[in-house]
Amino acid sequence: MQDKITLLKELQAIDQGLQKVRQSREALEKEQVALGSETGRIRTMVESLTAELDRLREERRTLQLALEQEEQNIRRSEGHLPAIKTQKEYVAVLKEIDTAKKLNKDLQDRIQVKETEIAGTSRDREEKEQELAELTAKISDRLDEIARQLAEWDAEAGSQVHERDSLFDQLPVTLRKRYQLLFDRRGGLVMVEARNGTCSGCNMHLPPQLFNTLFTVREIQSCPHCNRLLYVTAPM
Ligand SMILES: [Zn+2]
Repeated sequence: MQDKITLLKELQAIDQGLQKVRQSREALEKEQVALGSETGRIRTMVESLTAELDRLREERRTLQLALEQEEQNIRRSEGHLPAIKTQKEYVAVLKEIDTAKKLNKDLQDRIQVKETEIAGTSRDREEKEQELAELTAKISDRLDEIARQLAEWDAEAGSQVHERDSLFDQLPVTLRKRYQLLFDRRGGLVMVEARNGTCSGCNMHLPPQLFNTLFTVREIQSCPHCNRLLYVTAPM
């Protein structure tokens, strides 16, 4: 009987330790994901700014090509001028050149607008790249630390689980089930001391007769209120 209680208490201590590690592990894994998603968010912004920059540069290129084409046309028309015979034709070509120059001015203005947009987007991207680099540097130590801690727990958990299972297997089957059910449903606290006629698990008074039998009866008793398994430290 005392052996069983000792065994159950040891089992509970290991299970509580393992449960604590499991909870800490979950918290660290969540933190890992959160840190990763923050960098992912900024990385996505950098990518979309890069795509925006590519688009703007392509648009500027198209405008520049159109401008070059128009300038060539103007030069060609101007080259023809000396060969023109009539005044009427001369005026017509001059007018054509003038119109083309006005169009070019418009193209130049649009290119200027693109330049401004490109400069702004480029600055935004630099800022985000900087932010990403800083964040990556800042969290990389923490991520290493988390990975190290997780690996350490993994290494320890192996032997703990082995020890836990060997203790568990020594219990009678019915007691295994009772223990496991209580551990899961009672917040990992199965073995509780009965002190001064009270269950220390739920703080309820135990029937005096039950309390007294704890010192004599050889079967493990449950608290009638919370069902936890009771033990007493020393006969009074
Ligand atoms: Zn109780």
